[in-house]
Amino acid sequence: MSAVAAASAAYIVAGLLFILSLAGLSKHETAKAGNAYGMAGMAIALAATVGLASRSITATGLTLMATAVVIGAVIGLWRARRVEMTGMPELIAMLHSFVGLAAVLVGWNGYLSVEGNAGEQTEVADNLLGIHSAEVVIGVFIGAVTFTGSIVAFLKLSARIKSNPLMLPGRNWLNLGALVAFAVLTVLFVIEPSLLLLAVVTAIALALGWHLVASIGGGDMPVVVSMLNSYSGWAAAASGFLLGNDLLIITGALVGSSGAYLSYIMCRAMNRSFLSVIAGGFGNEGAAAVDKDYGEHREITAAGVAELLGSASSVVITPGYGMAVAQAQSAVAELTRHLRDKGVDVRFGIHPVAGRLPGHMNVLLAEAKVPYDIVLEMDEINDDLADTDVVLVIGANDTVNPAATEDPGSPIAGMPVLKVWEAGHVVVFKRSMNTGYAGVQNPLFFRENSQMLFGDARERVEDILRAL
Ligand code: NDP
Repeated sequence: MSAVAAASAAYIVAGLLFILSLAGLSKHETAKAGNAYGMAGMAIALAATVGLASRSITATGLTLMATAVVIGAVIGLWRARRVEMTGMPELIAMLHSFVGLAAVLVGWNGYLSVEGNAGEQTEVADNLLGIHSAEVVIGVFIGAVTFTGSIVAFLKLSARIKSNPLMLPGRNWLNLGALVAFAVLTVLFVIEPSLLLLAVVTAIALALGWHLVASIGGGDMPVVVSMLNSYSGWAAAASGFLLGNDLLIITGALVGSSGAYLSYIMCRAMNRSFLSVIAGGFGNEGAAAVDKDYGEHREITAAGVAELLGSASSVVITPGYGMAVAQAQSAVAELTRHLRDKGVDVRFGIHPVAGRLPGHMNVLLAEAKVPYDIVLEMDEINDDLADTDVVLVIGANDTVNPAATEDPGSPIAGMPVLKVWEAGHVVVFKRSMNTGYAGVQNPLFFRENSQMLFGDARERVEDILRAL
């Protein structure tokens, strides 16, 4: 078998492993296997690509490539081992920005080695030059939008910049203008490729990516993260066309389409328009958070919560980002076992955007060995909350905010939330009266049936366990 045929066969195997990986990642039970398939697919893909490239590049080129792989692998391992679960979203946003940057560099390289290399012999036939130019300019555009969009997402998710939407005057026109300019410049570039045109397209795309994500408010960030995941896939697919690499096209299309579908599911779960979010918050006039006086909140002690739980027959726990920050999942799992042993019906209500990653809470609870069958989605539990004795809100805030359903002027208006306030008693675990990710005050904390248990969620749950 020739080297090319062997590489093609390896690419097909890798492609199949990536499909198995996506299928595995769609359920908790099979997620670990899904990860293993993905890693195996990537190892095969890398080995096949290096093997193929080694036939046509010099020893220096090969050494440079091997050095890059080793440096990348060391940095990847180091970061992956050190990252906290709460830091995953920003790490992912950062990784998406690398894919975008790589696509821009591949596009520029494509231009410099073909169109910008006039007079020299290139691998692209004259009659295919137009297609090559279109691939260059589209790849650079998608890559640059992904690059800066992901950087803004990284900055917002790591709280280095505020998550409020940027409201430039005529922002929708700015986005539309950028798209029209891109279309016109693409045509001009295909007719007559030039370095200047490519530089202008790159600059416009960098600005557009920045603006699209900056204009999206806190509550819509989950969709932005999955959308950038999708963009990074399309950027990789565009690079695949340029490099003539089938596996990159397949992988890019898989990531692009699964990311787009995830964004669509998240938009539906949050009652947001998909088009509005991908168009940088189009049609959303970005209601600003207004400070309202909701009255006084009431506090409770850990011993008081233990007493409340002692007389409850049904308990629902709604975890949020604060549970991840406090690493309270094991203590929460212990509390759950304790209550279930006493015959209390304990269930979990998981909001689709709780935490900072799709599935964030499910992963933490699975890690703490909470049985899957008592972990329910928001829609599965919402109707039961009115008949629940006690709800423990552990580090959740935006996802249990009644303003989303009751205050049309709220920045999170329309987002479905867990209706915890309908339960007999609500205990909110948090450290202060600070707002959640969307920066909106939560009237739940001031309701008659709500009590605040201040402090680190893990310490407070452990206090309750001791009191029980
Ligand atoms: P929120 O971010 O709304 O609130 C988390 C709460 O946890 C805060 O009010 C904070 O209050 C509390 N908290 C933080 N640390 C601790 C601690 N150690 N102990 C106890 N409490 C703590 O969380 P939700 O999960 O309810 O909502 C998720 C938000 O994140 C939504 O707005 C969503 O749109 C957004 N988002 C979600 C993504 C996803 O994919 N899931 C991605 C990006 C954004 P205090 O500081 O007072 O302790």
